[in-house]
Formats: sequence, structure tokens, C-alpha cells
Amino acid sequence: MLDVNHVTKKYGKNIACNDVTFTLEPGSLTVLLGPNGAGKSTIIKSIIGFLKYDGSITVNGIENKTPAARKIMGYIPELPSLYPTLTVIEHMEFIARAYKMTNYKDRIEMLLDRFELSDKKKKFGDELSKGMQQKLNLCIGLLPDPDILLMDEPLLGLDPHAIKELKNYIEEMRQAGKTLLISTHIIDSVDMLWDRTVIMQEGKVRANVSRSEIEGAGKSLEDLFFEVTEGLDPSSVKEEGTDPSSEKEPEEVKDDEPKGEPEK
Ligand code: ADP
Repeated sequence: MLDVNHVTKKYGKNIACNDVTFTLEPGSLTVLLGPNGAGKSTIIKSIIGFLKYDGSITVNGIENKTPAARKIMGYIPELPSLYPTLTVIEHMEFIARAYKMTNYKDRIEMLLDRFELSDKKKKFGDELSKGMQQKLNLCIGLLPDPDILLMDEPLLGLDPHAIKELKNYIEEMRQAGKTLLISTHIIDSVDMLWDRTVIMQEGKVRANVSRSEIEGAGKSLEDLFFEVTEGLDPSSVKEEGTDPSSEKEPEEVKDDEPKGEPEK
């Protein structure tokens, strides 16, 4: 459904993603695992269409930056970017209108209730604690209910209740047939029902395995992660997207935007 094909993204001389290839199967939950700086956010921002890159990304065969593809993809960024002068409820209504949603009021109530923001509706963006900002960031991302949802470190900064609620919500989305990509650098945080894991390190895909392949090999995700990232014998699990021929010299620099600024 969503195909990332040989995507390379450079920031100056730094290769943030190096010939990255993987597929998100419809209705599956893929965990994008990797240490800090592995290139997880960069590939997610490339998929959602914020960055320029070499290679191609398609959604149902359509180029990811087209309006048709964008319509079915949603993104929850790692860091919230809220409007200081809009209240919680105004943020939600603003997003609902931007996505031309109808009958959104109940859905807004449901999300604010589940993430314990119902009593904060009238608070302004800059009056919220960091955790509350993270929760509003989640509610904003979940509101449009897209078929494909990309979540960048969604559990970061959440309190235990919100973590539990988000895990439940993710499982419900999975049951409903959504296609989900969740990035994390914390292995323990992905004990929910994932279907496939893509492990990245230093911009490259080091492993791409299904849950049954890992379990069939009698391994835990943690075993695999350390085997792959510490260079110990990863041969017993299937790897994809790690074609040694991809380890070519970097091509010329394409762009060099400041950190955190999406390219429109
Ligand atoms: P991760 O999400 O796995 O922590 P990132 O995708 O954020 O990794 O970063 C991958 C690499 O790209 C890192 O070396 C990081 O410093 C670099 N990088 C990310 N964003 C920018 C940027 N906007 N400008 C320059 N370098 C960047």
C-alpha cells in the first residue's frame, strides 16, 4: 500500500536516510525502531511530504506528494506545534474544518475525554503543561482518522494513563484496518501488537522482519535489535533493504534546510 523505494535524504554532507526501502502493508502496524539519529523522523517526514529526497514514495501507486495521497495520510509529529492564542477546543475545531470534517463534535469530545483534556478545553496552547501539549498533539493527529497514520515517537512525554490509552487506541485502529507506522527508540514501549518491525541505524535499514519471523526464530524484539545494531549474528532473521550495493558514496548535496523546518 505505502511503498518507500530507495529513499536517500541528505542534510549537507550528512546522509540522514541512505537508500531506505520498505513497504507498509494495508491494515498492518509497523514499528520503526532505531537509536537516536538513525533517520526515523527523516523518513517519516519524507513519507508525509515535508522533505525533498532522492528515490520514490508511493501510496496505492500514487506519488506521496499528490493531494490524493496526502488525503489518506496523517502524521503525528514528535514535537507539538501549537498556536499559543488558540484554546484546546479551538485547535480541534480548526483541524476539523481544515480537513472539511462533518459531524466532528462527538469525535472531538471522545478524544479529549480519552486523553483527559475535557476540563482543559478553554486553556490556551501556551498555558498547557508539556504533557498536556503532547496529548493535544495526539488528539489533533487522531482527529481526521486517516487510513494511514504515521506517528513519530508518540509515547514520548506522556503520563502512564495517556500511554495506556494511546496503546488501546492504537490497537483499536489496527483492528479497524488502519495502516500504522510508529517510530520509537525505546524497545520496551512497543509491547503492543505490532506486525512488522523495520530497524534503522545510521540512516540505513538494518532489518525488516515480521513478528512471526522473529517469534519463529525464538527471539525477542530486543534480541534482534541488539544483534542488528551491535553487528552480532543477524543472519538467522530475514533482512531486507540492506543491499550492500547501496553503500555507495553519497551523491551531491541536494538541500540543507534548518532542523525542524519542513520544506513545503
Ligand atoms: P531519529 O528520528 O532516528 O532520531 P533523525 O531523522 O531526526 O533521526 O536524524 C537523522 C540524522 O539527520 C541525524 O544525524 C540528524 O542530526 C540529522 N538531521 C535531522 N534533521 C536535520 C535537519 N533539519 N538539518 C540537519 N540535519 C538533520
